[in-house]
Amino acid sequence: MTKMWFAIPLWQRVIAALILGVITGLAWGPEAESIKWIGDLFIKAIKMLVVPLIFFSLVAGVCAIGDLRKLGAVGGRSLLLFMGTGAISVALGLLIGTVMRPGEGLSIPLPETFTPSTESFDPTDMILRFVPGNVIQVMAEGDVLPLITFAILFGIGILLAKEAGAPMVKAMDSGAIVMQKVTLIVMELTPFGVFALIAWVAGTFGTDALLPLAKVVGLNYFGCGIIILVVYPLIIKMMTKLPIRDFFRGIVDAQAVSFSTASSNATLPVTMRCVQRNLGVSRSVSSFVLSLGATINMNGTAMYMGLASLFGAQVFGIDLDMTDYILIAITGTLGAVGAAGVPGSGLIMMGLVFGVAGIPLETIALVAGIDRIMDMMRTTTNITGDATVAVAVGHMMGEIDVEEYESDDDI
Ligand code: ASP
Repeated sequence: MTKMWFAIPLWQRVIAALILGVITGLAWGPEAESIKWIGDLFIKAIKMLVVPLIFFSLVAGVCAIGDLRKLGAVGGRSLLLFMGTGAISVALGLLIGTVMRPGEGLSIPLPETFTPSTESFDPTDMILRFVPGNVIQVMAEGDVLPLITFAILFGIGILLAKEAGAPMVKAMDSGAIVMQKVTLIVMELTPFGVFALIAWVAGTFGTDALLPLAKVVGLNYFGCGIIILVVYPLIIKMMTKLPIRDFFRGIVDAQAVSFSTASSNATLPVTMRCVQRNLGVSRSVSSFVLSLGATINMNGTAMYMGLASLFGAQVFGIDLDMTDYILIAITGTLGAVGAAGVPGSGLIMMGLVFGVAGIPLETIALVAGIDRIMDMMRTTTNITGDATVAVAVGHMMGEIDVEEYESDDDI
């Protein structure tokens, strides 16, 4: 029995769990919440990995890149791709919202307390968020953005220390490898966690609860679908000429985990394993790009910012002009950067976009009940984007093992 279980590749077990979870949840209804703890256990176990994994992998990644000029090249290219895809995504959300008008038919008078916001976007806050005041505190709180800054600086310090830094390179390398093994153990829980979480979502929301807001949900899935099925394949095709089919087969595990956990951070260990093991991107490039991407590259979230802004404006009857569109595009791109890779963070960050564009914050309450279902798809888009950039940058830097990428023996 155990032998048979392990003979099936993990990703197939995960997909089966996903389908069974939906069926069970729909049949069982809200009672399905009673098994949610199994999903929580899974998320907790996987979260346990995040801080040490980011730290060891990122430091080891910086050290493996070897010299500062190359580090700048990998970092610069990644940031460019992150920002470029982010901007395309918000624009897509705005376009879908303008053409399909999801808020039409649902008209809510402006709340009495509503005064058009004059709040302005504060870029200094954003910059300050990148710098840790206290490294231990940042680690204890799992605050990934400043942790990334520290890990990169620590890696640069090791490189600058030359010989004196050599034992540290070994220690960090070994730490990264050990954490990958721990990840492997935790990943065996995936089918159970995915089953329980999906059953809970399907049982809680059912199909009825969705109907009134079905249009926003549908358009959210549509927009994310375009990014995953058109934008990313185009990037991979244009920049690497590698076959797309192998890309999707290689990351399906990470997609299933992101869909059920709705957290890029929690999925990071799995994304890393898929990109290194199935897509053949070198450890140094993938550790660097994926750790950074899980926190700042969120195209699904960026697309949703655009879509939700138009939904809010339409529901509350607010006219947006060109300046508003531009403001939404800028704050949406940056808001997606600032959103943490945890469930529901996109919803909270929408406050920033709405505040700047003068859209009632009540819109957030309106969509909050169904956010989880949209978050699942946003997160899947987000991590697929991270993997896309890792493959593109890996290819540019000549750090992708094409044979591994194209091989069939995926985990
Ligand atoms: N949950 C998403 C993520 O972790 C962020 C969001 O809420 O859009 O990537």
